[in-house]
Amino acid sequence: MEIVKENKSVNRNIIAKRITPLSSFNSAELEKIVIEKLNEPKFRAKQLAEWLYKKLILDANSMKNIPAKLFDKLTENDFTTCSSEIIKKQQSHDGTTKILIQLADNEVIESVIIPSDKRITFCLSTQVGCPVQCYFCASGKNGLTRNLSAGEIVEQFIHCCSIIGHKLPSNIVFMGIGEGLLNLENLLNALEIISSENEINLGARRITVSTSGWVPGIVKLADQEKQFNLALSLHAVDDEMRSKLIPGKMRYPVNKILEACRYYRQKTNRMVTYEYTLLKGINDSIVAAKKLTTLALENRAKVNLIPYNSTENNGFYRPSAKRINEFSSILEKAGVQVSVRREMGNDVDAACGQLRNKYNK
Ligand code: SAH
Ligand code: SF4
Repeated sequence: MEIVKENKSVNRNIIAKRITPLSSFNSAELEKIVIEKLNEPKFRAKQLAEWLYKKLILDANSMKNIPAKLFDKLTENDFTTCSSEIIKKQQSHDGTTKILIQLADNEVIESVIIPSDKRITFCLSTQVGCPVQCYFCASGKNGLTRNLSAGEIVEQFIHCCSIIGHKLPSNIVFMGIGEGLLNLENLLNALEIISSENEINLGARRITVSTSGWVPGIVKLADQEKQFNLALSLHAVDDEMRSKLIPGKMRYPVNKILEACRYYRQKTNRMVTYEYTLLKGINDSIVAAKKLTTLALENRAKVNLIPYNSTENNGFYRPSAKRINEFSSILEKAGVQVSVRREMGNDVDAACGQLRNKYNK
C-alpha cells in the first residue's frame, strides 16, 4: 500500500463555508454569474465551463486563458473554482485508489476509484456521515454531520477524474458515505451537471444511486424519469431480519420498499439491483437465499452480493467463502442475474466510511 500526501494546491485562506464552488452551476447559470455578477463578457463563462466540465480541471492556476482579474472578481463575489482538496490518496495492490477529500469547513469525505478490466468506476459520497446509521456500517457511526452541496458532489467527481488523468470514468456509483436519497435535491442538481450534454456528459445509464430503502426518495427519483440505475440495499428478506441491520427510525417495511422499486422500474424501465451485504449468521442462510431468489424473480431484479468487509469489532462477520458460493449458486441456478462483489482495496480500508473514521480519530 502506498500513501501519497497530495500537494496542497488550494489556498485554504480563501476557503470559507460561504464560498460557493462554480461546479454548483450549469452553463446557463455560469453565464448569468459571469455577465451579471462579474461584469465580464459571456465567452468567459464558456471558458470556465470548458475547464471544469470538459477538461475536468478545478485548479485556477491551470486555467491559462482566463485573466487573473477574473479570479479576483470571483473571490470578491464569494465564488471559487475549487472549494475542496484531496488530502490523502491510498493505492491498493489491486489497483483500487481511495482518496480523502477535505471540504471548505474541514469536514472530510472519501471516494474510491475502482479499475476492473477495461472499466473504471468511481464510488462517491453524498453526505458527511449518514443519518441512517446501519449497525454494520462505518459511515453512519456518528450520524449525519451535514449534506454535501451539489457543487461539492461535482467537485468530488472532478477530483476523481483528475486522478485518472482528467478523464471520465466508465461508471459512477453513489455507494460511498451517506444516504443519497436523503440529500436528493443536491444530488439531483449534481447529477444534472454530471449527466447533461452541455456540461460533463456522462450518460445517466452509467450512474447508479444506492439507497438503504428511503421510500419517498425512491418515488421522487422515479418521477424524474431519468435513466439512472437504482440499487437497493436490501440485505434481508423480511422485516425481522432487516431490523437487526438498520435502526427503526429510518427503516421502511420491506414490502413498501419493494413496491417503490417496482414503481421505479415502471417509470424508468430500468432494472433495479438488490444489494445484499452477506453477514455471517444473520442473513446468509440457505433459507434466506431461497427467499431472496423468490423476491428477485418476482420483481425481476438483479442481485449484487457483497461479502461483508470487517470494519471493527462490531459483532458482524463475513461468511466463509464456501457459504458465499452456496448462497450465490442458489440464486444463479434459479435464473437470477447475480454477481458477487470482488474484494477490492481491503488494504486501504475500502469499506465505506472506514478511512474517514480513521482520519477523524
Ligand atoms: N447509503 C446507501 C449508499 C452507501 S452504502 C446505501 O446504504 O445503499 C453502499 C453499500 O455498501 C450499501 O449496500 C451498504 O450496505 C454497503 N456496506 C456498508 N458497509 C459495508 C461493509 N463494511 N461491508 C460491506 N458492505 C458494506
Ligand atoms: Fe448510511 Fe448506507 Fe452506511 Fe446505512 S449502509 S449507514 S444508509 S451509508
